[in-house]
Amino acid sequence: MIRQKLEMADKASTQNVLHVKPDSIEQLKDVLEKAQQGNRIAIPTEGSAEDAWAHRISPEEKITIVDISFLKKDDIKWIIHRFKKSIENNPPVWIETFRNWGQTQTIPVIASVPTTLEELKRLLKVASEEKLRVRCAGSGHSWSPIFSDRNNLLIYMENIKSDYEDGSRIRISPGTVNHVDIMTGVTTRQFKDFQLEKKLNIPANVILEVVQMISVVATGCHGVGYDVKAPSDYVVKMRIMNAKGNLKTFQREDNKMFKAIQANFGCFGVIYDMTIELKQQDIVKVENQYQN
Ligand SMILES: Cc1cc2nc3c(=O)[nH]c(=O)nc-3n(C[C@H](O)[C@H](O)[C@H](O)COP(=O)(O)OP(=O)(O)OC[C@H]3O[C@@H](n4cnc5c(N)ncnc54)[C@H](O)[C@@H]3O)c2cc1C
Repeated sequence: MIRQKLEMADKASTQNVLHVKPDSIEQLKDVLEKAQQGNRIAIPTEGSAEDAWAHRISPEEKITIVDISFLKKDDIKWIIHRFKKSIENNPPVWIETFRNWGQTQTIPVIASVPTTLEELKRLLKVASEEKLRVRCAGSGHSWSPIFSDRNNLLIYMENIKSDYEDGSRIRISPGTVNHVDIMTGVTTRQFKDFQLEKKLNIPANVILEVVQMISVVATGCHGVGYDVKAPSDYVVKMRIMNAKGNLKTFQREDNKMFKAIQANFGCFGVIYDMTIELKQQDIVKVENQYQN
């Protein structure tokens, strides 16, 4: 394809303005060499820029307009350059190599840590415009490739402010006695401390204390006990931001839809918070009797 274009370029070397669209670095090198040999000025552009240049050149000048859009899909530096420009670095975004705890996943990503819903909204809208896929990371303790795709956007959610009236990140849901609202970023340890304080409990949870409750639910984690369900089964409500930046509420009453998103592996948008139904703590009396 590119060869054809270059041949056409050769035939038309008397033309003042030529357009070429390489698809790789090698093709780009070819294009630049040809331009140099033909005493043409190569002008890199993204997309078509013919009219803008056509009237600027004198009859003696020859230019080759090189559409370098292919760099966008290949090069993370180019992607972040565009992304930063669109988002005006608010919130900041950067390139990093994400590694999970078990070091089974190593992924170059564009990362960000939004602190407000407004920042999250901006991130998702710009990512959507730039056609980037978005995934979140909790504490990075999953083993499988369920994090961001290579060169796409990875969001860390633990610093995002809660919109609960008291500013907390975990609370008894207003108007209930045993429903608990849990913000993204809350760890299993923090959830356990809250349960002990409020004398409420979830029948089963993972043993790890450093992982995040939203992730435990998102990945359908299990606890122990043959007669209890998974933590995600006790979730009654979730607020999730979609690609347009709209925060939507899904409830257990939504039935089929809710079942689909209860354990969604981070593929259904960014979970802002969730509500879990807990049980009143059982007080168990233990008596030891020793026989002589
Ligand atoms: C030593 C060890 C022991 C373990 N023991 C158990 C066990 O007993 N039982 C069990 O079931 N599992 C167990 N696991 C697995 C672990 O509990 C899960 O993988 C858990 O999801 C990890 O939580 P995390 O906070 O590290 O999440 P991460 O691994 O960082 O993320 C998990 C997923 O959640 C998504 N996610 C996180 N936050 C959001 C958000 N705000 N919005 C949308 N998506 C989000 C991510 O995109 C990702 O797909 C164990 C893992 C290890 C390393």
